[in-house]
Amino acid sequence: MTRRDAAGLCQRAASLLYPRVCPFCGALLGHRAKDAAVCPACVAEEERLSHQPPRLPDGDHDFYALNDKMAAYYYADEVRTAILRCKRGGQWHFARELADRMAVRIWGADPAQKPGQRPQYTGVPGMTLYGCLVPVPPREATGEPSLPALLAKRLGEILQIPVIDALQTTRPLRPQKELTRAERILNVRGVYACRPGADIADKRVLLVDDIITTGSTVSACALALLQGGAFEVHAAAVAADEELPKNKRRLSTEKKP
Ligand SMILES: [Zn+2]
Repeated sequence: MTRRDAAGLCQRAASLLYPRVCPFCGALLGHRAKDAAVCPACVAEEERLSHQPPRLPDGDHDFYALNDKMAAYYYADEVRTAILRCKRGGQWHFARELADRMAVRIWGADPAQKPGQRPQYTGVPGMTLYGCLVPVPPREATGEPSLPALLAKRLGEILQIPVIDALQTTRPLRPQKELTRAERILNVRGVYACRPGADIADKRVLLVDDIITTGSTVSACALALLQGGAFEVHAAAVAADEELPKNKRRLSTEKKP
């Protein structure tokens, strides 16, 4: 048996143990899944909530120290449900599906149609852009991998870039979602630092987070990476918390989940 055969067998076994599911509704993915990742019932919702183009407008966020910032979706409705499912339910296979959607939506990755198996990607335009991926570190160590760490791991496989756990927190952080915009900036100021020995010198770093709200977390992380020797920092998230453009809002008569 060649290595390739063995890898194929492993993937088939994994797909039996952990069948692939639509990240937005949890339905099993069948042969009609779009891009091998979104069930037919969610295609329209996925399109509605996509952030096009993925580059985030500075006016809606308080960014600094970042060269580029991108998100695949708006943080609303089914996308919010999908992210919360990963964060609260610890369901790492949903996290991998969301990372796949980031690759498709942000970098134009072209997935081979392989129903039931993880899509393979070739010629991803982002491949040569970055020197490494760095996940935003969790507020506190829980023993479980954080959602940004899971996203970075899968994106590293897709974009073929090493993942470096380069950042750590230097003091306890209050949860950002409890704070006002001004408090968020103060809360994260100076709290992130590079781990000793993290090899990011002169690299263009892709910083990975789940949600970008004010941008204060990714900006504070970017500053720490630059202080640690990074050449420049780009940030990417599953979703950006911005007001939905009018043409993407649900009509008030439609039912909210
Ligand atoms: Zn679905």
